This record gives sequence, C-alpha cells and structure tokens, in this order.
Amino acid sequence: MPIDDPSFPHRRRLLRQGAALFAFGAGLTVAAGSAAASKVSKEFVKYQYSPKDSARCGVCASFIPPAGGSANEAGSCKIVEGAILQNGWCQVFSRPATLGR
Ligand code: SF4
Repeated sequence: MPIDDPSFPHRRRLLRQGAALFAFGAGLTVAAGSAAASKVSKEFVKYQYSPKDSARCGVCASFIPPAGGSANEAGSCKIVEGAILQNGWCQVFSRPATLGR
C-alpha cells in the first residue's frame, strides 16, 4: 500500500489501538495468572481432611491460623489454596523448626 493512500492514517491508528488493547489484555492475563498461581490446589498436594500420624496443618510451618484463633475454625495456608482445617494434612507438610522432627 502506498504511503499516500488516503486510508493509511486510519489503518495506522487501528493498528496502534489494536496493539494497545492486546497489551492491556496481556497485562490482565498476567495479573490474573499470578494471583491464581501463587497457591496450589488441594488435589495437587493430595490434601486430606484428617491428620497423618502426628502431622497436621495446625502444627505445620505453612499454616495461617484463623483470625479468631479457635481450634474448630478453618485457617488458610501459605502454599495451598482454600480453607484449611487444622486437622488436615498434605504432602508438603513441614514441621516448624522449633518443634523438631
Ligand atoms: S502445607 Fe499442607 S500440611 Fe501445611 S498447612 Fe498447608 S495444607 Fe496443611
């Protein structure tokens, strides 16, 4: 297409707008992806709703206790998504260094 074509500026503007929309969409995708990727699913770490021997979420280094601090309330986890029972357990359980092994 010749530069002196009357439709040239219009096409250029459309291309610029398209590039801006693409960049905006890519930014949204990355933001959504990073939020979702920050924790893993319960299935991935084979989470179970009961302890494994003496290992349980309530004594795991990654456990975040519930705001109320009640033993019956679910907390959360630094690694696994969703509500986490204090008597649950998963494959990435890690005992805090102060409790020993
Ligand atoms: S890492 Fe696993 S065992 Fe530890 S709190 Fe999270 S879900 Fe529970």
